[in-house]
Amino acid sequence: MKNPFENLKTVEDQMDYFSEQFEEQSTDGIRRNYKDGSDFQSNPFLQKYPYAIRIILYYDDLEISNALGSKDTIHRLGCFYISVQNLPPEESSLLSSIFLLALTYAEDLKKPGVLEKVLLPFISDLNRLKSENGVEIDLPGGEKFILRACLVCVCADALDAHALLGLLSPSANMFCRLCLVSKKDIMEDSTSVGLLRTAQLHQKHVEEVEKHQALPSKRKLGQGKKIAFQNLE
Ligand SMILES: [Zn+2]
Repeated sequence: MKNPFENLKTVEDQMDYFSEQFEEQSTDGIRRNYKDGSDFQSNPFLQKYPYAIRIILYYDDLEISNALGSKDTIHRLGCFYISVQNLPPEESSLLSSIFLLALTYAEDLKKPGVLEKVLLPFISDLNRLKSENGVEIDLPGGEKFILRACLVCVCADALDAHALLGLLSPSANMFCRLCLVSKKDIMEDSTSVGLLRTAQLHQKHVEEVEKHQALPSKRKLGQGKKIAFQNLE
């Protein structure tokens, strides 16, 4: 696996690499990159450490015995990849900038607790990288560098995103992972958008599901169980 930071031997090189040269915040109100969005602007960690590495997690199933047969599940693998969002575009567009995080047997992921177990080492590494101390690394010249990183995006198709976020299946009443629109509302008007799900709202729903295990409450919120990222700080 190629190390994207291989040629960056000095602190200056690394700072240049993660500097705003290729990611200047827009001043004309047009959104050009992540820094122009409210997610970046409301993230206390990224406001404090704007050069921190921003990680994207990607998940999808891969059928290795018959790539075209979506019904074949017996040899299906669950694949987790990560990439760095704030690399310069010419680097992040390369296939070699996508890193394999974990390969699992997809059927195993459906068993209770397996997903959490698979993601645990990644989540504990992320918690260290996002902590106040960060992760100190030695550079070849004897200098020290504090590496900091956080997870900014999880990409997956509807079914897998629901599993990762602990949401009920897309056939639930509140089926949308982005907002609280109900099936009834969408039947009446297919352009309906409900109250947007936020990190705070999601946390509240997870707590409510834990408190009231009764099905109606779960149905109401579209939330089924705790999430694989529950230990992410
Ligand atoms: Zn929605």
